[in-house]
Amino acid sequence: MTDQYAVIGNPVAHSKSPLIHAEFARQTGQVLTYVALHAEDAAFETVVQRFRVAGGRGMNVTLPFKHRAFALASQRTPRAEYAQAVNTFTFEGDLARGDNTDGVGLVRDLTVHLRCTLAGRRILLMGAGGAAYGVCAPLLDAEPATLVVANRTREKAVRLCAHFGAHLLAARLSPSNYAELAGMQFDLVINATSAGLSGAMPALPRGLYASGALAYEMAYGRPTAFLAHAHVEGARTADGLGMLVEQAAESFHVWRGVRPRTEPVLALLRRQLAA
Ligand code: NDP
Repeated sequence: MTDQYAVIGNPVAHSKSPLIHAEFARQTGQVLTYVALHAEDAAFETVVQRFRVAGGRGMNVTLPFKHRAFALASQRTPRAEYAQAVNTFTFEGDLARGDNTDGVGLVRDLTVHLRCTLAGRRILLMGAGGAAYGVCAPLLDAEPATLVVANRTREKAVRLCAHFGAHLLAARLSPSNYAELAGMQFDLVINATSAGLSGAMPALPRGLYASGALAYEMAYGRPTAFLAHAHVEGARTADGLGMLVEQAAESFHVWRGVRPRTEPVLALLRRQLAA
């Protein structure tokens, strides 16, 4: 039987993952199927189980189920434990191994596609939700000079920083709210909030961007107030499409043991979004 993979979410019809994985499979000569599976809120665990029993080899998990996938996994990788969320399942017999490839996806997009140096740099991570948890450890692993986590609800940023307290470079991590950022400067500002979805943006002080700084919006497919503001402030800007493709490539590598080339797939998605 052909190896079967899927992405599960709600909504999921808009997901680019089936296209991305089909391109990866074609490019690397891997024979597999990859479909999108919609799950009603109450049915997430049932849909996962049904897919496993039918012979599914692996699954990506998207909103709003990453935390429930974490709970469902029978074994978790260290990066899933740090993220407290699972976006990649590998099924082997009774085992459901939960992994998280979002963070490595972001770091690869930043360092490979955007040629951004992270070591020794001052990084601001905006938001303290699921996406911020997912990227924090890989950002620290890249040895920045500082990593400030700013959130509208400051206590959540404090909680996030405490969660990463055991990381070797935890001393470089500090919590903040947006007002406290006044007078600071950063080489990289990452928007991991969902503010853009409602046309809003966190209340950032002026003058946050150091010379040559990059503003990175994790969302993709639409212009956001954050990116417009960063442009006016003189920063280089990027959206999260590259992160999407890179986290998929990492999942593909986990499942198939081969690393696909991401540039052509990213270029294809960019052409589709521009059309
Ligand atoms: P969560 O719902 O877990 O977290 C939302 C965060 O946004 C919280 O920190 C919240 O602050 C903040 N927020 C929401 N509205 C506002 C606002 N108006 N002003 C200031 N802060 C606000 O979402 P996720 O972490 O899961 O996702 C965040 C973003 O990352 C989404 O846009 C998502 O699409 C994107 N993403 C992209 C990926 C990719 O591959 N490119 C992968 C994963 C996520 P508070 O705590 O104060 O409420």
